[in-house]
This record gives sequence, structure tokens and C-alpha cells, in this order.
Amino acid sequence: MTEFLAALRERLGEAGLLVGGDLSAYENDWRKRYAGKALAVARPASTDEVAAVLKLCHEHRVPVVPQGGNTGLVGGSTPDDSGRQLVLSLSRMKRVRAIDLANLSLTAEAGCVLADVQAAAANAGLLFPLSLAAEGSCTLGGNLATNAGGTQVLRYGNARELCLGLEVVTAAGEIWHGLSGLRKDNTGYDLRDLFIGSEGTLGVITAATMKLYPQPRERLTALAACASLDDAVALLGLTRERAGDALTGFEVMNRAALALVARELPQLAQPLGAAAWTVLLELSDAESAEHARTVFEGLLETAIERGSVQDAAVAQNLQQAKAFWHLRESIPLAQAQAGLNIKHDISLPVSAIPGFVAEMDAALAAYLPGIEVIDFGHLGDGNLHYNVQAPGAVAPAAFLAAHEEAINAKVYDAVQKRGGSISAEHGIGRLKREELAARKDPTALALMRAIKRALDPLDLLNPGRLV
Ligand code: FAD
Ligand code: ZN
Repeated sequence: MTEFLAALRERLGEAGLLVGGDLSAYENDWRKRYAGKALAVARPASTDEVAAVLKLCHEHRVPVVPQGGNTGLVGGSTPDDSGRQLVLSLSRMKRVRAIDLANLSLTAEAGCVLADVQAAAANAGLLFPLSLAAEGSCTLGGNLATNAGGTQVLRYGNARELCLGLEVVTAAGEIWHGLSGLRKDNTGYDLRDLFIGSEGTLGVITAATMKLYPQPRERLTALAACASLDDAVALLGLTRERAGDALTGFEVMNRAALALVARELPQLAQPLGAAAWTVLLELSDAESAEHARTVFEGLLETAIERGSVQDAAVAQNLQQAKAFWHLRESIPLAQAQAGLNIKHDISLPVSAIPGFVAEMDAALAAYLPGIEVIDFGHLGDGNLHYNVQAPGAVAPAAFLAAHEEAINAKVYDAVQKRGGSISAEHGIGRLKREELAARKDPTALALMRAIKRALDPLDLLNPGRLV
């Protein structure tokens, strides 16, 4: 290993390799669920340096864990505790390489923080719509490696749909130059789509060309209180009918989720009373601000008349709109502050969601009285974060040890029965690998394993994750 590390040091220089010392920021995951021990942390500054690192790893058979902002929620971005895995951090590769105004595209390096990509697009008068609560730290490479979703998927799609081209370094250290800004390209298998969502198991993404959009002229945000999820689904239908493509966000939060935020983050204002469900909806109308406002107010009025909405608050300015979003995006932070919980990132047909939640809430309350379900997410995409927290008096760690397996089985059985997915946007990583193996279609699993063997025959790229 000393020979390997010496070769890495020579290629990457002092700033490019961290050995020994406090590496905990790279070794522990965001949720503090997985504590690892890295052989070292490589911090290449260019694609050629990434290629050199992977060539050396290939030669010396060293397993590699690619890492971006380390905000992943499934234990995919940190090393195991063997002390044998090299963390490959893309954090020094943060250049926006180009913006093509006529092609509506932007090319940036994998280590670019998502908020910086958004800002670069905004500075050019355009919109990069990918948006999620971790955007101040997560990276473009991590977003693509996990096919991140977030709050604008309804209108603009997830990371996959926003990507036009990739630059990738293979397990053997070859560079694939796939950064075309083409919107049409039928020249064989789609390698780009193979790497998107592969969670660092097939190659290291070093740069990407992404789609940009015109900035919406007006963005309107509201909170609406609903007595049930059925009412929230009815509001979604009405909003779609009235606003069409202008609907860009439709999030829900249950009473327990907002009560947790009130407990953990009391400084955040909560404009509506404690409704069973609070919907955050957003319209972005590119045509005219007045039109957007008229549509918005009309549909909320109708919803109140019909009884599907009990109360609503429309943001009067950008600052208020931001505060509404901040409330929604603070739920994962409040949960992290309250300690470990059992997370489920599930998706279902929207029509099946109220039934699923009613069945599960009842089953869990019967299983363990006092159990708390922190339920929130992207209802417009059929994606819920159905998170389960220990009853007040029970320590989180003990709760997980005693009940995680049984609760996961209940939740995932109910999801599977309705044709849903056990991972809508966070990926598989280490957390759900066994669950995936047990539940994914066997032919699909065999094809995934064949792809893994073909692209990474020595199993050096993020081993033990995903497949
Ligand atoms: P990391 O955590 O560093 O890595 C994630 C995975 O990608 C790992 O398997 C890693 O090995 C791999 N990887 C990273 N970079 C590369 C690369 N360049 N090449 C190859 N593989 C790579 N996710 C959503 O989808 N929607 C949400 O709404 C959302 N909200 C979140 C809110 C909070 C508060 C937090 C903490 C997380 C949230 N996430 C969400 C999860 C997470 O932010 C996303 O998965 C994000 O895309 C990860 O980016 P990252 O740069 O932090 O990647
Ligand atoms: Zn989410």
C-alpha cells in the first residue's frame, strides 16, 4: 500500500491526497448511520487526475468510493470500516466549463455544488431547475450518480431528464468523452443513462452537460390546509386542470412532520394552524404574472368551496415564498436533530397513496403504540418520505435495532402490493441493497449484475453498494 500511496502522492501533489489525520468528514455519512475508515482521500483537480487515480487503483486492486457532497442518505458515499477503501472526492472539480445560450445548456464539473450550478444559470438569465434541500452542499456529480429528484420534478423531471451528456472515467481509468449537448442522438446503447443513477458503481462522473430553461417570470407559492390526503389529491387534480404546465411544485407534510419542526426549529414561522395535511404548491407562469395570480386565487377559492381545502396562505412576496419552502425543506433537518429514524423513500401511483398511508398508519399504530410517522414529500410525483420515529420515551438506536426490520417489511410489502418502488429518489447504497435483492424482478437483477461485471470486472467501484 505504501507504494500505491506514494504513486498517488506523486501524481496528485500535497493538496490532492489526504492520508492519516482527521478524515472523519469523508468517513461518516450525513445521517451518522455509517462510520467508516478510509485508506486515504484522493482529491483530484482534473479529469486526467481522476483517470490517473483509477488507473493506479486498477493496477493495485484498491477499491474506490466516489464522493461528492456526502449528503447521500443510503450509505453509498462513505467507505466501509476496513481501512482498505480509497475515498475519491470530486470536491476540487468545481468549474462551470461553459454555458451555451442558444443551445440552452450548461457544462460543469462533477464537484460543482448544486446551488452554484443554479447561480451560474441564473447569472446567464436562465434556470437550472434541479432543486433539493441539500443543494448548498450536494454536487452535480452526486445528483447524477443518484438520479436526484427534489422539488421541481413535476415540471422539469429528475436529474436524468435534465442531462444531455456526461464525461466519465471508467474502472480501468479510461476517459469517455460524452459531453455532447445533443437533444437527439440514436447511435446505439445509451451509455449516459447507464451511468446516471449507478451510484458510483460503474464509473466516475467528472463533468456533465445539463439542460437549462427560461426563467419563469412569476413564481407563486401557497400553503393549503387539508383535512385528509384524499383532499390533497383532489387539490392536485384541480391544480393540474386549471394550471396545466404552470404547476411546478406540489409537496405535502403531515401534522407530525410540522409538529416536529415546531419542536426542533421553533424559530420557523408556521403560517397555518396544525392541519392533518399541509400542501405547499407552486405555480411558475412564464407568460404573465397577473394570469398566474388569477389562476392561483381562483383555484384556491374553488378548492375551499368544495371543502378540499380548509385554509390557505398565498405568499405575498419572494421572501414569504422562500419561508414556505424553508419550512418544507427543514423537515429532514429537524429529523436529523431528533436522532435516527427509519426512513422510507417510496413511490406509488398518486391514486394509491391515500390508501397506502391509511393502511400503514393503522398497522404501525397497532404494532407499536406511540410510534410517530413523519410523512412528507413530493405528492405530485407520487413520492413520499414515510419516516418512522421512535415513541417519545424510546431511544432511537434501541428502536432501530428492535424494530427496523419488521417495520421495513410492513412498509415495503404494502408498497410492493401496490406496484410501487422502495427507492424513489435516494437510491440503494448500502441501506437497501438486501431489500433490492429480495424485491427487484430477478431478470432485472441479473441484467444489472451483468452490466456491473462488464464495466467493473474487478469489483473496485463502490463495492458492496447497489448490486
Ligand atoms: P454523495 O452523497 O457524495 O454521493 C451519493 C452517491 O453518488 C454515492 O453512491 C457516491 O459514491 C456517488 N457519487 C457521488 N459523486 C459521484 C461522481 N462524481 N461519480 C460517480 N459517483 C458519484 N435527494 C433527492 O433525490 N431529492 C431530495 O429532495 C433530497 N433531499 C435531501 C435533503 C437533505 C437535507 C439531504 C441531506 C439529502 C437529500 N437528498 C435528496 C439526498 C442527496 O442530497 C442526494 O442524493 C444528492 O444527489 C447526493 O449528492 P452528493 O454530491 O452529496 O453525493
Ligand atoms: Zn425528497
